[in-house]
Amino acid sequence: MDASLRPAGPDTQTAIRKEVLARFGTTEDPRLREIMLSLIGHLHAFVGETKITWAEWERAMAFFATAAGVTGPGRNEFIALSDSIGLSMQVLAASQPKPAGATIPTLIGPFFIDDAPVFPAGADIANGASGEPLYVSGRVLDTLGRPVADAVINVWQSDDRGLYDVQDNFDPASMWGRGRIACDPEGRYAFWSVMPTAYPAPMDAALGELIHATTKRWWRPAHLHFAIQTRTADPLVTHIFVRGSDHIDEDVAFGVRPALVADFLAHSPGPAPDGKRMDRPFRTLDYDFVLTRGGE
Ligand code: FE
Repeated sequence: MDASLRPAGPDTQTAIRKEVLARFGTTEDPRLREIMLSLIGHLHAFVGETKITWAEWERAMAFFATAAGVTGPGRNEFIALSDSIGLSMQVLAASQPKPAGATIPTLIGPFFIDDAPVFPAGADIANGASGEPLYVSGRVLDTLGRPVADAVINVWQSDDRGLYDVQDNFDPASMWGRGRIACDPEGRYAFWSVMPTAYPAPMDAALGELIHATTKRWWRPAHLHFAIQTRTADPLVTHIFVRGSDHIDEDVAFGVRPALVADFLAHSPGPAPDGKRMDRPFRTLDYDFVLTRGGE
């Protein structure tokens, strides 16, 4: 039989893989070489395992083109896709492993702003955001229980419509539902805000196409985002989720971990923990963050 008429089989697949790996094996940057060889190896194996067809492959390429079409300032559909198959959480778990007792990192999400307004301790960061009042307090500690005295809490959240300020006629001069608050020397922090609400992931492009065709789960349960900035410990980006929130067991981004689900206690009108007299029901969250130092 003419060799050129042989059906493509394992020999051909193996030959192609070997040739590609050999060429990329000449990559100078050792870390890039390691990543590319592993990625190519896994992708070639995936193709061999699923016997994906050319029509399916074209559909996949069109899917990525859709994702690219909506990606730009303020929106990265590829990160949303990475979140939606748990890859973002895997990257963090693999690259920032934490010892028992340390607060684990989660994905940062699309709504972080670096230069959020700075507030004094105990201030209200809502700045007009609508929702039930919420008082948040706690400490930032290291794994030995010592305060991280230089920590700054950077918090951002949705309002009771499930929207962030950047999704609602955003005015950089009057951000709402976000702020930076410094800890005291004992690592204590406190601020007022409003209860966050569950919200759907953007479903108008590639992510929507994927989720509608697969899991049909596109909600993020109610949460506060935190980025804890410090020079004396390992900075941390994480979420705290509202226990009992709608969709708490089906986060589209797989960010919900047991230790990050907390009680947002409901209170009748009356005195708040900071002495403020509340004339309507409010909630409180008391949460301690535990940071590592030098990874430990
Ligand atoms: Fe969020």
